[in-house]
Amino acid sequence: MAAVPTGPPHPSRPPLWELRFDSGRLCLDLVATAHPDERLTSPERLRAWLTGAGLVPPGTDLTVPHSWLAAFRELRLHIGQLVGGELANRPAPAALERVNLLARAAPPTPCAVRTAEGTLVRSLYAEPGCPALLAAVARDAVDLLTDPAVRGALRQCEGDNCPIVYLDTSRGRRRRWCSSEVCGNRERVARHRRRAALARA
Ligand SMILES: [Zn+2]
Repeated sequence: MAAVPTGPPHPSRPPLWELRFDSGRLCLDLVATAHPDERLTSPERLRAWLTGAGLVPPGTDLTVPHSWLAAFRELRLHIGQLVGGELANRPAPAALERVNLLARAAPPTPCAVRTAEGTLVRSLYAEPGCPALLAAVARDAVDLLTDPAVRGALRQCEGDNCPIVYLDTSRGRRRRWCSSEVCGNRERVARHRRRAALARA
């Protein structure tokens, strides 16, 4: 793992290594890896995403070939089109067909293994291949988009030019930003600047 800078990320330019898992759904977290710039830049980064997303339990021996990057970016593009289409009431038939196709493969098979301390931990029956991992994300998109209650909680971030879509599961459905630390903070800074400029005028 590369050295991770300490301290809070700069609000307008999160560090390149940053992977986010705060959209509320696996498939939306994948879409978020394209913003604000490409996060899936290397097999190591994709492996970090797969582990961070919970698709692969920590400590799993997983070989990620370079070819997986293109496959995950392709699925990401289609899920992004489907979710964006849902919010804009614009069907995306080609994307739908592709996501459905990728969802047909069997996802990774989980199993519980007992540690030396006697507790059960989640593991995978076998090292998963690319189709199985893609299928897990594609199935999450299928589940999300076909559940009216969940679909109704889809929101696009109100931040300036922020394309991130998340599930608003907050009480009263009043979440406005993909992240209060990123877009929420940026908005607070902008509001403060406006007030300060007004006071000076
Ligand atoms: Zn945002």
